[in-house]
Amino acid sequence: MAFSLLQHGFHGACATFDSLSFPRVAIVFLLACDVAAGTSASAALSRVREAVQDSTGLEADLRALCDGIGPRMAGTKGMRRALEWGRQSFLEAGLSNVRFDAVPMPMRWEEGATRIDVIEPTVFPVRAAASALSPAIPRAIEAELVDGGPGNQGSISRKAASIRGKVPLVKLDEVRSFDDLAIEQRDAMLAIREAEQAGAVAVLFVSTRPHRLLYRHVNNIAGRLDKVPSAIVAREDGLRLLRLLRDGARVRIRLEMPNRIGGPYETANVVAEIPGQDLANEVVLVSAHLDSWDMGTGCLDNAANVALVIHVARSIRAAGALPKRTMRFVLFGGEELGLFGSLAYVDRYRSELDLHVAAIVHDMGGGPLVGYSVGGREQLLPRLDEILEDPGPSGEYRHTREAFFLSDNFTFVLQGIPSLFAVQDTSGFFLTYHSEADTLDKVQVSNVTDSAFVAASAALGIANRQSRFGERLNERQVLNWLHRAGLVRHLRFLEVWDSWRPTARGRAGR
Ligand SMILES: [Zn+2]
Repeated sequence: MAFSLLQHGFHGACATFDSLSFPRVAIVFLLACDVAAGTSASAALSRVREAVQDSTGLEADLRALCDGIGPRMAGTKGMRRALEWGRQSFLEAGLSNVRFDAVPMPMRWEEGATRIDVIEPTVFPVRAAASALSPAIPRAIEAELVDGGPGNQGSISRKAASIRGKVPLVKLDEVRSFDDLAIEQRDAMLAIREAEQAGAVAVLFVSTRPHRLLYRHVNNIAGRLDKVPSAIVAREDGLRLLRLLRDGARVRIRLEMPNRIGGPYETANVVAEIPGQDLANEVVLVSAHLDSWDMGTGCLDNAANVALVIHVARSIRAAGALPKRTMRFVLFGGEELGLFGSLAYVDRYRSELDLHVAAIVHDMGGGPLVGYSVGGREQLLPRLDEILEDPGPSGEYRHTREAFFLSDNFTFVLQGIPSLFAVQDTSGFFLTYHSEADTLDKVQVSNVTDSAFVAASAALGIANRQSRFGERLNERQVLNWLHRAGLVRHLRFLEVWDSWRPTARGRAGR
């Protein structure tokens, strides 16, 4: 999956902890800078910078993961190869405690031989891809196609009577920016739910990308099948069909979507460490998700950031930098299907989460890393400024207090763990997002190299900070923030609210 900017994607307010009854005394105390480690830390950082600039290993990793292994959907052979590759890469980088942690997945899903043909008023094949977690249409059926409108709230419900037993064709807007992706995702989720209530046979979405480009993502993150089958159709085919419908033609189609659906299984997270020297039980988590969708080779999403995380680890080891706290590097599995890798992580390490001083997640393509989102915790911004003084090639960091969700970082935000989400330039990202065209030719190695130095500086700076980068918030503080920022209804919309507090997605008591 990836992420949605809160206020764009789901009409939320900018989510911050600003006006909460926050333990300010503690914050003032924590803001005391540490200068003690000054000289040796900056010498270590220069050595890390030199090591990062040798991009030989980084380039080899990108080629191995994107071209050699290719698509890595959870539960597939590609993902199993990628997991073993990730383990080997950490070992070769000289990390310790390299291991797999099991990640339970709720159900298997793979596309079969999707086939959609127009059979009336003329005959032509429609280029299409099944939505992930769509139920199957195992044998071909014939149905009438109707105009499903733009897919935003009410656009299907309003004409429910004319949609029953038919297939609405929903025209989502073409994406022209990264933020548009969030709207696409929200509207597709809405359309599916309204189509289900209207008794539609299936839903077809006009691709939001031009030039017959197809892509895949989920329409729910609750780890269940949708109730109505759906597919994306090439924008050019979809627009032709809408013109026919708007000219008054009766359009009939034949659909076959033999998606392969199965029971629970396990994938894994790859975990590796550089043990801390003084405060080894405190953890700075540095992560990216390893799984991808199956249509392209998942290079911007998210091989570029997997390679970045490995390169950060390799460079810190090569430079001989010895962090005060333990740096734990994690390649998450199962993110695209519903953040299952990070959910399994917080389950497994629940008793250690108070000792996580930061969780850093990279999942925004291969563009330059221009700053970090602090997940609503404005108080972390000055601490970031302390750590990242050198603005690097971007000229100026653009940190933001805004919280992003629909990536693994939000799992840690909900746990009250200080969370950083790497904000990257997305100008080359949104068009190929989750599509067939997310391939290695879109990645500029120099961007990843520059970003890796920012990421290494941030992670090492947090690991070496005299005092903790941030305290863990308790459940009440997180809950207050969710309410005040107006996020509860978004979590309800995403069907994760009910499961958040008592079980896997949230904090157990306290
Ligand atoms: Zn991603």
